[in-house]
Amino acid sequence: MTLEAEQSYKGWLWQKLGERCIKNLKKHGFDAHLVEDTDSARGLILGMIQGFESFGFGGSDTTRTLRIIDELKKRGKTIYDHWQQGLSLEEDLEIRLKQGRCDCFLCSANAISATGEVVNVDGVGNRTNSMSFGPKKVVIVAGMNKVTQDLEGALSRVREVAAPMRAKSLNMETPCVETGVCNDCNSPQRICRITVVLHRKPMFTDVTVILINQALGF
Ligand code: SF4
Repeated sequence: MTLEAEQSYKGWLWQKLGERCIKNLKKHGFDAHLVEDTDSARGLILGMIQGFESFGFGGSDTTRTLRIIDELKKRGKTIYDHWQQGLSLEEDLEIRLKQGRCDCFLCSANAISATGEVVNVDGVGNRTNSMSFGPKKVVIVAGMNKVTQDLEGALSRVREVAAPMRAKSLNMETPCVETGVCNDCNSPQRICRITVVLHRKPMFTDVTVILINQALGF
């Protein structure tokens, strides 16, 4: 089988899994969409956030792949992005707090179950707070590589894939960076301190989930 054919079957399987996931997310009160690629996701997001003035971004490679921050800056919007260079600790924390009070918060997820739950693990908590309560709107974007069959699989994915890879990318001194395996460490640099599962749409927050039929982020 050619690599192209293999990719096409994988895309088909992800499409089917994604459709099931979207159906169950909608049952759980989320606005949910499955799109083919990052351009489609970008267009969808820019269409749905037009009325907002301030935007927060969680620590996420996926949302940055969509090049939304630059576009919003061009439009003169206020951005709260703690990944910008040269921030003091005080400035960093202030931005993370403001993310929880912005009009629209954008982030990714560590895992999403096809049964309709969104799972995130945080070290600081600004992302898990902001995606639950505070902003008027939350947009969660994830590649299909993050969708698992069920909630148990989603929690395993965080432990086995997302957290070790994130720790490695941050160059943390944790056991998983040495071995590639989580051992539920007590390291001072442990990044897994808060687990939040959105079982249903939070009561007072409008949450959209966008799945992209591609592999994106950890
Ligand atoms: S708990 Fe520790 S070892 Fe496990 S993934 Fe998180 S940082 Fe790595």
